[in-house]
Amino acid sequence: MKTLADIRALDAADPLAGFRARFTLPDGVIYLDGNSLGALPVDVPARMEDVIRREWGEDLIRSWNTNDWINAPGRLGAKIARLIGAGDDEVIAGESTSVNIFKALCACIQLSPGRSIILSEAGNFPTDAYMMEGIAAFSGGRIRQSLVAREAIEDALTEDVAALLLTHTHYKSGQLHDMAALTRKAHAKGIPVIWDLSHSAGAMPVSLNAFEADFAVGCGYKYLNGGPGAPAFLFAAKRHHDKIFPVLSGWLGHARPFAFDDGYEAAPGIDRFQCGTPGILGMAALEVGLDIMLEADMDDVRAKSQALGDLFIELVEARLDGFELRSPRNAAERGSQVSIAHPDGYAIMQALIARGVIGDFRAPDILRFGFTPLYVSHEDVWTAVDTLAGVMQSGEWRQERFSVRSAVT
Ligand SMILES: *Cc1c(COP(=O)(O)O)cnc(C)c1O
Repeated sequence: MKTLADIRALDAADPLAGFRARFTLPDGVIYLDGNSLGALPVDVPARMEDVIRREWGEDLIRSWNTNDWINAPGRLGAKIARLIGAGDDEVIAGESTSVNIFKALCACIQLSPGRSIILSEAGNFPTDAYMMEGIAAFSGGRIRQSLVAREAIEDALTEDVAALLLTHTHYKSGQLHDMAALTRKAHAKGIPVIWDLSHSAGAMPVSLNAFEADFAVGCGYKYLNGGPGAPAFLFAAKRHHDKIFPVLSGWLGHARPFAFDDGYEAAPGIDRFQCGTPGILGMAALEVGLDIMLEADMDDVRAKSQALGDLFIELVEARLDGFELRSPRNAAERGSQVSIAHPDGYAIMQALIARGVIGDFRAPDILRFGFTPLYVSHEDVWTAVDTLAGVMQSGEWRQERFSVRSAVT
């Protein structure tokens, strides 16, 4: 087992160590939940103050032009594109991931005339499956949802499938799909693929265009540190743009929104995936997070994320009994999180949070720990496991208050 001295040496050699100072985290907190809500960048409050007082308060409606509000979705989209291997005219920021899943699924259905199945993985993040159910219900029987086990996905790629929707990094286990291989296999059957990058964007290099991906979506508030409910993003490969009549054909996706024509004419390119007026306050916060992320070398981010996860697994296995690893042991098959299971996982996580180590719980029994390389150190991992060992040894998690369920876990 590594000693604390070994671990401190790793931090001393960490090329990303300087990024910690760019985030505001309360004293006494070790934050291992950046995969659910990224930490607050130090520069966000001042930027929000400026966008509210000056851009909104003083410049008022002129800001759509003078402060370039109107181009925020495309400008932020181009920044996100650099993190996910896309062209700068292939990504738009806005909406929630759920809404972008709807847009992308409907686009795939249009690209796949005569096909009736929209396919995903059983146990995917619920909203992905729920959005599919909504489309199936709305279609009046023309479109059917199919959810199959992870191992059965390849066999389910048939010529009836209109869309394959997969989450690259599984939200519970952290297990990665082989994006290149699955995209290739789906394309061999003429199936467009949507990659949900919610737990991948900002956590590791992603190369959408190298794999000829069709669509992708993801969250702005996880590893991109855009704040609660931050705008999400949608990637659509350039080759598809002009073939798609956007299902949410709002006025800001029109070729000439300020012509106020009666009829809809889709904007050329990625802009057609815009719908209504973007939330500028959310865009302003997200842009600060993106600018920080873009300063980091994504290979360094990936290397540190894997090292932190490996260290966590090593320390948990050396120091704790009764927990079962539910993430791949091999870092190459894992995103930036590690899940361990325990029958009393909920109460244990609440007791751990009470001691200042914040992870989260996913039913029925998973304690999930996210390792955000920009602000988590190797020593934080050591302290987190040490604290968890203290919670188990003292038995304090058995206190009744730790079993009371909150609305959000
Ligand atoms: C977090 C997450 C979402 C969240 O969707 P919202 O619309 O932002 O609530 C969707 N899909 C996956 C895979 C996620 O991990």
